[in-house]
Parts: sequence; structure tokens; C-alpha cells
Amino acid sequence: MATIFSRIIQGEIPCYKIAEDERFFAFMDINPVAVGHTLVVPKHEDDYIFNLDDDEIGAMMVFAKKVAKAIEKAVPCKRIGVAVIGLEVPHAHIHLIPITQEGDMDFKKEHVHMSDEEFREVQKRIVENL
Ligand code: AMP
Repeated sequence: MATIFSRIIQGEIPCYKIAEDERFFAFMDINPVAVGHTLVVPKHEDDYIFNLDDDEIGAMMVFAKKVAKAIEKAVPCKRIGVAVIGLEVPHAHIHLIPITQEGDMDFKKEHVHMSDEEFREVQKRIVENL
């Protein structure tokens, strides 16, 4: 069965899309740790990021860099933190999180609650900066 991320990529489940190319897809995390929290996923389904071959994992980071630079410009922050967890969704992905201090990467702290309108507004700002 396709993962939830594959279903998002295929357009079966809605998302706040940020970017896409032949191999990768970026969209906003629905339960963000910070405003602008974005996920980068390979279209090719693999449960574990370190199972990706060298070329794919390298290209994924290059794609993530482009997205991170756009988030950096769109959201007030010092830089973009990168995290790989992958315990919830069995489809390799990178979390890109705007941060100003170390604690901003804490997934256990209370997450940010954003309305549909707020998601759309941040999405627009990030996309404009790609
Ligand atoms: P993890 O697999 O532990 O790295 O966490 C998966 C991440 O995917 C979590 O941060 C979720 O909030 C996020 N997530 C799960 N379902 C969706 C969805 N439908 N749209 C956007 N983000 C999602």
C-alpha cells in the first residue's frame, strides 16, 4: 500500500506544496514544530533515508538546500535546522525547521497551531522565494 507521502505526491491527499522536481517533493508539515516547517521526500518510496543510494541521497540534499534557502527568506529565523526521524511515516524524509535557538528543534515541545489561512500565507511566501 502506498505511504501517506506517496498519496500526497500523487495528489490523492491535499498538502501545502512548496516544490517538486522529477525525483523529490517538498510540502509543509501539517503538525509543525515551527512556522515554515517543511518536509522533503523522495518520490521513490523507501522506508529509511539511509537505504537511499548515494546519488539519490546527495540529490535530495541539494533539493532540500534550495527549499531551505527559500524558507530562510520567508520566515524570521537564524537558520534552517535539519532533522531526520522517520518513526511515524515509513517513507524517507528530511525535516527543514526554521530555528533561532537549539530548543526550536525539540519535537516534544508544544507544536505550532496554524490555521488553513496561515499555512497558505506562509506557503505563498516560501514559494515566492524559491
Ligand atoms: P517522522 O516520521 O517521525 O519524521 O514524522 C512524520 C512527520 O510527518 C510529522 O512531523 C507529521 O506531522 C508529518 N505528517 C504526517 N502526515 C502528514 C500530512 N498528511 N501532511 C503533512 N505532514 C504530515
